[in-house]
Amino acid sequence: MSVYDEEALKKFRLSGKILRETREEIKNFVHEDTPIIEICEKAENLIRRKGGKPAFPCNVSINEIAAHYTSPPNDKTKIPKNSLVKVDIGVHVDGYVTDTAVTLCFNPEYESLVEAAEQALKAAIENIRPEISTSKLGAIIEKTIKSRGFKPITNLTGHQVGRYLVHAGTSIPNVSQLSFSKIKLGEVYAIEPFVTLPNAIGRVRDSEEVTIFRFLKSRSLKSQHAKKLLKHIEENFRTLPFAERWLKNVVPQAHYHEAFKELLASKSVMGYPVFVEASGKPVAQAEHTVLIVKDGSLILT
Ligand code: MN
Ligand code: MN
Repeated sequence: MSVYDEEALKKFRLSGKILRETREEIKNFVHEDTPIIEICEKAENLIRRKGGKPAFPCNVSINEIAAHYTSPPNDKTKIPKNSLVKVDIGVHVDGYVTDTAVTLCFNPEYESLVEAAEQALKAAIENIRPEISTSKLGAIIEKTIKSRGFKPITNLTGHQVGRYLVHAGTSIPNVSQLSFSKIKLGEVYAIEPFVTLPNAIGRVRDSEEVTIFRFLKSRSLKSQHAKKLLKHIEENFRTLPFAERWLKNVVPQAHYHEAFKELLASKSVMGYPVFVEASGKPVAQAEHTVLIVKDGSLILT
């Protein structure tokens, strides 16, 4: 018995194809001094042009920033020289989510860090199959990373994806961990090892900065503008994360800031803090989305 019917699988495959093509095109677009907002908008526009929708804002996370940075409106930051750049993108087709990431390296010193993330991902993909435990997969990822002299980020995980859900159900840890969860036939997973230097703490902490948000709940709001903004968010993004860049011209600009503040204060909308490696060390990431089939998996991205 499969989790998804043939129609749903067709949408997952299309979602993955759009994402794969976008990732390959965006790789050639990212250079030192490229404005981050141009990368985000280019990736998101490519996804839309190919017939998908962004499942979350394009994340461009640099050096010790591990994840969850997207350009706020009017972002002026650029790709720094000698940096390590993680581009993490997601697509949905009628809600069916795929998720992929690549690390671009502008510092020869960190090339082996990137390679360790890619090798760990490869090892996990080669081993994932129905009935394997997630703790076994975590052990495989950890061993691959440590055998290359690096350290996994222990509090970031891979995850099952679903319809209108980026993080659904079961997680795939990046370290050996006691868990009784098993991978099941027909499920879809994003696998994403994060790797840092051996002398790092190897965990991420929340920073003060928040650039990605998600709808939580319809609540009674005071201002008409806040109501309108929330309605737009609920209808367009549902349970999926969004960026403030995507809210342009929904309400008059003079009222936008206050309206958005009310959505956060009322907990109609939540924010995802930017994740930073706790000891400030650089982080590399690799990610694919896979469909679990009888003897193993199929890479969708
Ligand atoms: Mn991702
Ligand atoms: Mn992911």
